[in-house]
Amino acid sequence: MIVAMQEQASEEQIRQVMERLIALGFEVHRSTGAVQTVLGAVGARPEFDVRDIEVLAGVGEVHRISSPYKLVARSFRPEGTVVKFANGVSIGGNEIVIMAGPCSVESKDQIFSVAESVSRAGAKVLRGGAFKPRSSPYSFQGMGEDALKLMRQAGDKFGLLVISEVMEISQIPLMLPYVDIFQVGARNMQNFNLLRELGKERKPVLLKRGIAATIEELLLSAEYLMAGGNYEIILCERGIRTFETYTRNTMDISAIPIVKKLSHLPMLADPSHGTGRRDKVSPMGRAAIAAGADGLLVEVHNSPDQAQSDGAQSLYPEQFEKLMGELRLIAPAVGRKLA
Ligand code: PEP
Ligand code: MN
Repeated sequence: MIVAMQEQASEEQIRQVMERLIALGFEVHRSTGAVQTVLGAVGARPEFDVRDIEVLAGVGEVHRISSPYKLVARSFRPEGTVVKFANGVSIGGNEIVIMAGPCSVESKDQIFSVAESVSRAGAKVLRGGAFKPRSSPYSFQGMGEDALKLMRQAGDKFGLLVISEVMEISQIPLMLPYVDIFQVGARNMQNFNLLRELGKERKPVLLKRGIAATIEELLLSAEYLMAGGNYEIILCERGIRTFETYTRNTMDISAIPIVKKLSHLPMLADPSHGTGRRDKVSPMGRAAIAAGADGLLVEVHNSPDQAQSDGAQSLYPEQFEKLMGELRLIAPAVGRKLA
């Protein structure tokens, strides 16, 4: 249930409404916007009568939400969530944010070289896998903590935030000092224990859509994170598995406007995993921004032919620079900015 307080509601009235909701057995999440306060009440009993809340002083509107997710729903924060970082970068605001880097961190030279190129081209976040979810146990599994250290150094040197994938609960404390954003990969979108633990952290999480997940399942997974009190969630479309074989996955561009309508959370797109082929990455990246994505997650490698993972879908630095130039033309056409 969403309780939108009147614009002129006093702090005392808001407190009384919250107390009443808690007494009725709800878990209450408060969101204070520039103009009004919205209360998200989770745990409604089916027999609950919304009029009991509607009649309280200071209450504007009460909506019983029929969708299974509540905190993630657009109505909880109609103005949209903007995830802000100390260095001034915001995700979900007017500006498009591009995250770029290799699939896996492989060496100091590699990550520093890629960080320098993507930073020069205008990326704001350095991506790179330290723990890799590989289909085969014999494939490169990632450099672990050494990779995180290198990413942090490269990020700091070239003015980039750092995002890396967390695969299990035990990696959370290890990663905390190194990353600015936790990435939850497609394979872990429904690892509910991991989501619950990340919900307790106060660090942004980028949650990727599962390989065969519906949009509603993606939003429900985000609800796990928000229900723990972590409101800084960024969603990401990365392609879903279909019967098509010309691409690695089928990139569901329509998920972008659908999620933007259903949820207040920022929505990014990953055209690298979405297509699996280097020559398809830029067209789908352009399409995603045109469709309203708040940014992209793109794989870039200084020497893709030598990459330990996902070389075929990694852009050469020059290709990435060209894509950034194209996005700078597209962004204003859809009312956005790209610095
Ligand atoms: C990745 O970003 O490198 C990755 C493994 O992505 P996904 O979880 O979307 O497959
Ligand atoms: Mn990859």
